[in-house]
Amino acid sequence: MIYKRSSELFASAQKVIPGGVNSPVRAFKAVGGDPIFIKKAEGPYLYDEDGNKLIDYINSWGPLILGHAHKPVIDAVIAIAKKGTSFGTPTEIETKIAELAVKMVPNIDKIRMVNSGTEATMSAVRLARGFTGKEKIIKFAGCYHGHSDSFLIQAGSGAVTFGTPNSPGVTQGTAKDTLLAKYNDLDNVKKLVEANKGEISCIILEPVAGNMGCIPPNEGFLEGLRKICDETGILIIFDEVMTGFRLAPGGVQERMGVNADIVCFGKVIGGGLPVGAFAARNEIMDYLAPIGPVYQAGTLSGNPLAMAAGLAMLKELDSNREIFESIDKKTAYLHERMEKVLLQNNIDFSINRVGSMISVHFGKEPVTDFASAAESANLGTFNKFFHGMLENGVYIAPSAFETWFISDALSYDDLDKTIEAVDKVSKTL
Ligand SMILES: *Cc1c(COP(=O)(O)O)cnc(C)c1O
Repeated sequence: MIYKRSSELFASAQKVIPGGVNSPVRAFKAVGGDPIFIKKAEGPYLYDEDGNKLIDYINSWGPLILGHAHKPVIDAVIAIAKKGTSFGTPTEIETKIAELAVKMVPNIDKIRMVNSGTEATMSAVRLARGFTGKEKIIKFAGCYHGHSDSFLIQAGSGAVTFGTPNSPGVTQGTAKDTLLAKYNDLDNVKKLVEANKGEISCIILEPVAGNMGCIPPNEGFLEGLRKICDETGILIIFDEVMTGFRLAPGGVQERMGVNADIVCFGKVIGGGLPVGAFAARNEIMDYLAPIGPVYQAGTLSGNPLAMAAGLAMLKELDSNREIFESIDKKTAYLHERMEKVLLQNNIDFSINRVGSMISVHFGKEPVTDFASAAESANLGTFNKFFHGMLENGVYIAPSAFETWFISDALSYDDLDKTIEAVDKVSKTL
């Protein structure tokens, strides 16, 4: 494939945009080469500036679970845009999407809309701190919760030592309140809770991790965390920005039957427009301004365009619940057949999957937390695989630490083409 125009556009972009991109992982830095500039997309396909057509397994990093330019979503946005894009007043559609979200997701009474997943998790943690009156939080290594300061933290040597920031610009003062735990390690969490007794406001996690590849919670892990929180008054926050409205209509809470205290959303809930949200039962949500003391606001929060896209998306999912089964089946199909061709070609690999989240790791050992994900990352092999797939018309995330985001727009013919590409590429690894 030729990427002449993409490379020219990237050269221009780099002069006026840091690294040529508005979000770092788009830049292909991890895999090498220039990023591809997309001109348009429809259903499961991307069309780039050089006229190449790609089968898309990123789907805007998760939001487009029904594929690109899904007609009901596009129609809703066009119709509402003609009436004005933002009023800074309440609008009926905000109540409509809130009612639908509260109906679809278990265990929540109220929901507040924001503009990104980052804002959702940041606000959820402030709310948890305000509600409990405690300052520390526990997060897990390898879980991504957006780019706000409290989350850009790595632990020092021991698990109970204060964290040190892993981005310049995050202060020590902020870092010391974030305690880092190991995913799927309940004992580790118990020790942290014990060592910081009475000081922890919340535990935040991706209940199915998707930002170190896909990592399912071990049997009993979520239940164990729930129990710790029930015993200590710590709140548990499920960051369902990736899993919400994807793994089930009610997300991981529904799929795995464990209740969270606060749930964060993003990605699918905006139907491809900038939306995030956080939700909880009344007791917690009523702690928010204007009725409660915890401040949180947004000039464009709940704006009509974003709400129209989100509402159209949620309506599609709510009234066609077989979509969730269909997309899981497609992903299982891909899983089984990729496994077969990788085995046939003697590749060391492990595939993790929960529903329509799937990731291929190029190591033999099981991937269960950040350390094992890093060990199995095998970046050289992944990079070859990534570029090989691209050459064969398949666009997966340019990072060994991302899940593939399956959309229901993919046909079995697209999946077969993808499996053929995996077969072809794995012969070159
Ligand atoms: C994408 C993501 C975020 C951040 O959302 P943005 O909209 O990019 O700010 C937070 N948490 C999880 C689990 C995510 O996957």
